[in-house]
Amino acid sequence: MYTCGPTVYNPVTLGNWRAFLFDDVLHRTLKFFGYDVTQVMNITDVGHLVGDADEGEDKVEREAAKRGMNALDLARSLEAEFLQGMERLNIEKPEVMPRATEHIAEQIALVQELEKKGFAYRTSDGMYFDTAKFSAYGALSGQKLEDKEAGARVAANLEKRNPTDFALWKLSEPLRARPELVEGSPKKKRQMEWDSPWGVGFPGWHIECSAMSVKYLGQPFDIHTGGVDHIAVHHENEIAQSEAASGKPLANFWLHNEFLLVDGRRMGKSEGNAFTLDDLAAKGFDPLDYRYFTLGTHYRTKLNFTWEGLEGARSALKKLRAIARGLVGAPLAGALGTGQEQGQPLQQFAAAIEDDLNTPQALAAMWEMLKSDASAEEKSASLLEMDAVFGLRLSEVIGKPSEVPAEVVALGEERQIARQNKDWKRSDELREAIKQNGWLIEDQSDGGFELNML
Ligand SMILES: [Zn+2]
Repeated sequence: MYTCGPTVYNPVTLGNWRAFLFDDVLHRTLKFFGYDVTQVMNITDVGHLVGDADEGEDKVEREAAKRGMNALDLARSLEAEFLQGMERLNIEKPEVMPRATEHIAEQIALVQELEKKGFAYRTSDGMYFDTAKFSAYGALSGQKLEDKEAGARVAANLEKRNPTDFALWKLSEPLRARPELVEGSPKKKRQMEWDSPWGVGFPGWHIECSAMSVKYLGQPFDIHTGGVDHIAVHHENEIAQSEAASGKPLANFWLHNEFLLVDGRRMGKSEGNAFTLDDLAAKGFDPLDYRYFTLGTHYRTKLNFTWEGLEGARSALKKLRAIARGLVGAPLAGALGTGQEQGQPLQQFAAAIEDDLNTPQALAAMWEMLKSDASAEEKSASLLEMDAVFGLRLSEVIGKPSEVPAEVVALGEERQIARQNKDWKRSDELREAIKQNGWLIEDQSDGGFELNML
């Protein structure tokens, strides 16, 4: 399976993470049903321009200039941050994560093939794909070329034959010499540019996915995923390039996840609501709270993010962990096997998840199983199997009742005295000390307190 990965120019938002969590659930589901999975996720470190129509500056170079950094240094540091984020969300690392800058030769070879077959043409600022020559253009989004053209805004580049044509390779020199050719073009020398049969330049954004997917998966491969925002342009263009070059379909199945909204609005930097995992952490949320939150909505439905909704997910996950801890006497993973002899709840779970990844229904099957009168051993075995798909790290808590260490209880008692003396400063300090020990203290209405593991 091929997944369009991040463009490493700014921290990944919760909206992007929704897409990568969906990919991870798909990856895990395929493995749950016994498939061997090879997932390729690209790292876009060059070529993704600010404008949708191959215009403007390179996102990575622009951000690097703003920060006074080298473009590749910025890309590598944001890639490392992305990998950490995957770890925090318990997203399994794809088998292959190729970088666009390390596959320039493959991209050039593909453009050469398209040129040989008559699908590419030259303009003064680079090589373009002629969408009118590819009769199936628009099939993925169900749009005819005329409709797409009518919808496309007036092209800034007057040398394009059709408004839907897109860049395969852009030349650095003409852009510097005559920036008026393309609106918003950089006037400075680029940091990332390579020699090519057409001149020094850099690849277009779409060509990297076509070049790297065929390199690691062959063609056609089984599944291509991405956000719905990729359908109309990026994925249409990937299909056009790959199929025109090889005469074979690109992928057998396309799965697209819907958007994440914030308080019912689009998420965006300008809206001030482009939250990241660090924003969640600052408010005391565990990244897995967000993972649980996304599981509650089908991937093809828009998901509305609210802090209240995330609180709800946190309480549910907390309850789930508490139940899991109580399942004492748990067997090791795989006790029930993954065959068809599974119990009823596990079958319901499997039926939900194989029905186009119906995670809300799969979660419901899990809760029903936990409420059933099955033994602790059966429950913990089923829960482990289910969590192979949910990815909530339940194996770390199943059957491990938490005993509050004596020193934490002592801190709690000391805090109670501070509260009775209305010494709120000391009370807060002690709450923090308890937190440092991995526990959360909650005051009860009767004046007592409860200690829960973080
Ligand atoms: Zn892509």
